[in-house]
Amino acid sequence: MSVERTFSIIKPDATRRNLTGSINQKLEAAGLRIVGQKRLQLTEAQAKAFYAVHAERPFYGELVSFMISGPVVVQVLEGDNAVAKNRAIMGATNPANAESGTIRKEFAESIEANSVHGSDSLENAKNEIAFFFSESEIVG
Ligand code: UDP
Ligand code: MG
Repeated sequence: MSVERTFSIIKPDATRRNLTGSINQKLEAAGLRIVGQKRLQLTEAQAKAFYAVHAERPFYGELVSFMISGPVVVQVLEGDNAVAKNRAIMGATNPANAESGTIRKEFAESIEANSVHGSDSLENAKNEIAFFFSESEIVG
């Protein structure tokens, strides 16, 4: 097992419903340490840039609007196999397909308003962490 860092976002549907603590409890119970965390209102430019990989997808415009519809909590999570571990505790993109016990099964409202983002590879995790955090804001 190797200690990794991954990037997470608690999305606006979850902050709106006061679920930050409930989601953090699931992350910590799974063995992930929250080593960086801040609550932000994303700008449209930030949301567009963060999701640029999806720019050609039909849901891109709606996704950007959703991500700026309220505050988000951006996080750096650390632990053994943190990237895969976080993806597992998140559950499938569409909550209808998510396994029981996962964050999305328990909390997501829809395939779009699905409560959390998590990096899908170690390389993307590094880039996404650097997009939002300086080194001094991450305390392991
Ligand atoms: N999304 C959407 N409609 C779709 C697929 C995705 O609105 O048909 C949104 C959803 O919020 C998702 C995000 O776009 O979390 C990024 O999509 P991705 O395929 O990367 O899913 P994830 O990695 O978040 O599970
Ligand atoms: Mg993704």
